[in-house]
Amino acid sequence: MGAAKLVHGYEVVIGFETHAQLSTQSKIFSRASTAFGAQANTQACAVDLALPGTLPVMNKGAVERAIELGLALGSHIAERSVFARKNYFYPDLPKGYQISQFEIPVVQGGSVSFFLGEEKKTVRLVRAHLEEDAGKSLHEDFIGQSGIDLNRAGTPLLEIVTEPDIRSSEEAVAYAKELHKIVTWIGICDGNMQEGSFRCDANVSVRKPGAPLGTRREIKNLNSFKFMQQAIDYEVRWQIEQIEDGHAIQQATVLFNPDTGETRAMRTKEDAADYRYFPDPDLPPLVISREWVERVRSEMAELPRVMADRFVTQYGLPEYDAAAYFEDTARACGQPKLASNWIMGELSRRMNADDIDFSQVQLRVNAMQLATLIMRITDNTISNNAAKLVFDALWNQSKTAVGSSNMYSLMDITQAASVIDSIIEGQGLKQTPKP
Ligand code: ADP
Ligand code: MG
Repeated sequence: MGAAKLVHGYEVVIGFETHAQLSTQSKIFSRASTAFGAQANTQACAVDLALPGTLPVMNKGAVERAIELGLALGSHIAERSVFARKNYFYPDLPKGYQISQFEIPVVQGGSVSFFLGEEKKTVRLVRAHLEEDAGKSLHEDFIGQSGIDLNRAGTPLLEIVTEPDIRSSEEAVAYAKELHKIVTWIGICDGNMQEGSFRCDANVSVRKPGAPLGTRREIKNLNSFKFMQQAIDYEVRWQIEQIEDGHAIQQATVLFNPDTGETRAMRTKEDAADYRYFPDPDLPPLVISREWVERVRSEMAELPRVMADRFVTQYGLPEYDAAAYFEDTARACGQPKLASNWIMGELSRRMNADDIDFSQVQLRVNAMQLATLIMRITDNTISNNAAKLVFDALWNQSKTAVGSSNMYSLMDITQAASVIDSIIEGQGLKQTPKP
């Protein structure tokens, strides 16, 4: 890692808290639907409304998604974690408390690695904990009234918290993009930032190099990568100006206004003590067996970073290129396991045999071509054997290599030609006629 970049002689320190909405059909403690965009209050059941006598029941799917994230980020998955009540009053929180995890979260430690240009950066995670979302207050200015929509109340969230390891707004955006990539890749979150499925809070402070950590201000609900960078840049400039003018920074929660490009204090920051956390007596501790973890692990698609690691150790390739190739291929065809098999198998074998490097591989068979080839196998347009012949043709830049192929047992000559053309063009998602 290079020396920290300074802004007017100050080092920037950032820690992230990200709320990823988990992609379950029903809520975290009730059977109400989580679907976005329904008419207000049509998806809030008695549990979400906090009617007397109702009790929360844990959604197994939400736990499973937390396990998946933990496995993807190399975290410890707690065998026993505890739900706690976070008490505060707000109109969109009918119980008067939010069910969250406090002292013992389900996911502990781990890290997220990414590239900034060619430089690899690793951000350590503190934890990720399960919690329920609150409802929404809707302010209808034109009739001078506010309404409460409880459809979102009880939606499952995973709050992912980093150590203050981030050192610039560029790193912050790169971290957030990588985390977004991971949660959508493993499929635990749809990642839709407009709809609020992936919301980031950036804790920002500045200090002179070598000084202890400065006081932070937390920028809430950054829901676009562009605003994230703008908000952090503004906040850093503002804090440095304050300090240079002799003012101390007050810990606070701030909001970014995209229209003015400024951050503005919303409230002075609460401490954990203000929330009077205590274990929720309505929920038993969450117990996760090792068998469950292993079952989840065996069903997960390989992460681009892990696949790249294998590729790099085996072939000494630049990690960045290998990860990108695998990821582009897998995303385009939606088949990470097959993409990994083809790259580690057929492609590696030929690379070895012909003794060529990875830049040449991409000239022969690019990610879109390989993805299209894989899709034609999965939709049964061509057999595995035929696919190897097509791969061969691509590799040797010669359509005629397919001339003698057994593809004709599957389809007539014109169809075979059009399938091969579509793969050579790397058309990806475009459907070809079925034989
Ligand atoms: P709280 O629970 O009160 O929000 P935490 O200690 O859990 O506070 O920290 C929340 C986030 O703020 C974490 O991502 C952490 O890395 C980050 N953070 C803590 N101290 C600082 C600081 N001085 N500057 C920037 N970020 C910080
Ligand atoms: Mg916090």
